[in-house]
Amino acid sequence: MKIEIQDKLNKLALKKSIPFCYGCYQDAPTGRCNICGSDDLMNRLPGVGCEYGQEWIISHILETELSPVDIEEAFEESIRQIYPEETKVGWMTFDTVTLMKSQDPVSWNIAKSEWESQEEEDGTIISFDNGATYYWYSDLEKFVDDQEA
Ligand SMILES: [Zn+2]
Repeated sequence: MKIEIQDKLNKLALKKSIPFCYGCYQDAPTGRCNICGSDDLMNRLPGVGCEYGQEWIISHILETELSPVDIEEAFEESIRQIYPEETKVGWMTFDTVTLMKSQDPVSWNIAKSEWESQEEEDGTIISFDNGATYYWYSDLEKFVDDQEA
C-alpha cells in the first residue's frame, strides 16, 4: 500500500518538475542536456527551486497540499470514544481526558505513541519522514487520485 502510493507520488513529482542542468543553468526536458550532453541533472520545480532527487519535491507537494495529522488531537479523540466523557472522584466530576493527561502525562504519552504505531501499522496514517510528520492515508489517496484524474 505504501509502495503503491510512493510510486504515485514519484510520478507526480516527475510530472510537476523539469530536469535541469545546473552546469549550463538550463532546462533539459529530454533527460539529457542539449548543450553539454550531461544526464547528471537536477530537478527544477517552477517557482520553488532546483535540487537533485525527488524526495524534496514530494515533501513540498505534501506540505503544500495536505494537512498533517494532529496526533495529540486524533489520539485524544480516540480515547474520548472509548471512555466516558466524565469521571467522578468522590463528589467531584472531571473531564476524563483532562484528568488522565494531568495526573499521568507519562502514561498518556506512552499510550499515544503506541496508538501512533498501531495506526501506522494499520495504514490509517502514513509518514515519509520516519514519523516526524504523518498524513491521513485517505487524504493522501484522494489527493493522488485527484491529481491523476
Ligand atoms: Zn548542460
